[in-house]
Amino acid sequence: MADARVFDVIAKDLRSGVEALGDMIAEARTIIPFTGAGISTECGIPDFRSPGGLWTRNRPIPFDEFVASPDARAEAWRRRFAMEPTFAVARPGRGHRALASLHRAGKIPAVITQNIDNLHQMSGFAADAVIELHGNTTYAKCIGCGQVYDLPWARQRFDETGCAPDCTACEEPVKTATISFGQAMPEAEMRRATELAQHCDLFLAIGSSLVVWPAAGFPLMARNCGARLVIINNEPTEQDDLADLVIRHDIGEALGPFVGN
Ligand SMILES: [Zn+2]
Repeated sequence: MADARVFDVIAKDLRSGVEALGDMIAEARTIIPFTGAGISTECGIPDFRSPGGLWTRNRPIPFDEFVASPDARAEAWRRRFAMEPTFAVARPGRGHRALASLHRAGKIPAVITQNIDNLHQMSGFAADAVIELHGNTTYAKCIGCGQVYDLPWARQRFDETGCAPDCTACEEPVKTATISFGQAMPEAEMRRATELAQHCDLFLAIGSSLVVWPAAGFPLMARNCGARLVIINNEPTEQDDLADLVIRHDIGEALGPFVGN
């Protein structure tokens, strides 16, 4: 029996997957997308967690180490500046644009994302309609008082002093506005994501392997509250057996047909 269900749920090809998704989108009143690295790979942003990805070659710097060690802070900033050519030229892909079209059409009130690349905002979502669970790497923040800084400022300070920049107001370290390993999940964002997941009738998990908790709990939460669950990912995920539809194809290909005017 289980096999028969899985056979029904996993789209047999891209076309039938897009068709089934189109029907569900048409029937839905409130759609909440949850996006991971897979939606941004066609924009040239590498998946840090993938085999051979940055995090398997460069051990991530945990938050407490960043706070405690000037060397760790300098290294974190060197790595970030090395990524700048990649982030600076990245533009929204077909997945981002499709979601932005549905946002404009009034179907998607907000998007929940694990990504830090700012591409949802760039595709047309207002900043307060993007719930960033892991923060944003395109600007920086003081870890003490929260003062916001832009990256060119951080770059200039770093180049002038050879040290990671400190806040001009409170002298605490300035860090990209991302959530590092060992750093608490952002409370307000977690609350809003929970609220959104519990009050939608279609939840789209896009480009995430759904393994990083607590973020990966949202699809299950939505489903438990009665939403339909669609998983779009190139690879099988941990939660395919919970889904109403699984599209195991390239995200740009699967969502491209939903890019509107
Ligand atoms: Zn400060």
